[in-house]
Amino acid sequence: MEILGSTTTPLLSRTNRTEKNQGMNWISQHKRLAIYLRDGLACCYCGKGLEQGVKLTLDHLIPYSKGGAISSASNLITCCLSCNSARGNRPRAHFVASLSALTGLDADEVLRGIANARRRKLDLTTAKAMIARRKSCLKALLELIYGEDASTAQAA
Ligand SMILES: [Zn+2]
Repeated sequence: MEILGSTTTPLLSRTNRTEKNQGMNWISQHKRLAIYLRDGLACCYCGKGLEQGVKLTLDHLIPYSKGGAISSASNLITCCLSCNSARGNRPRAHFVASLSALTGLDADEVLRGIANARRRKLDLTTAKAMIARRKSCLKALLELIYGEDASTAQAA
């Protein structure tokens, strides 16, 4: 969709960012889970949650390729895969404006929600306990959605 496409971001910086962030090792499983929990298991941009079948990712508010801290919770928000891909390396206000034009969401409200989210404290203790029990962020999330039996079945 053209309105979400980036015309100004050089392809190179986007490629670098993707390579640097490849895999899950740039952030610990429990910190990833704690950020998802802090943000209510829903995308901070479009508001869609796990229960709507979206895949959760972490979005760097200031992209790593532009000097943003790679694993600092105040630079990270929960973001669905489609918003993350659509944003690319654009400034978040630009992306939120185009998302707002497309969906009718109130851009100011979305930006306020993001500002509030990044200020909330992470519950690392809870996240660590969940990871210790389920061994991975994905399995912990599956348990939250489907309950213990389903998460065991799905993750096997
Ligand atoms: Zn989204």
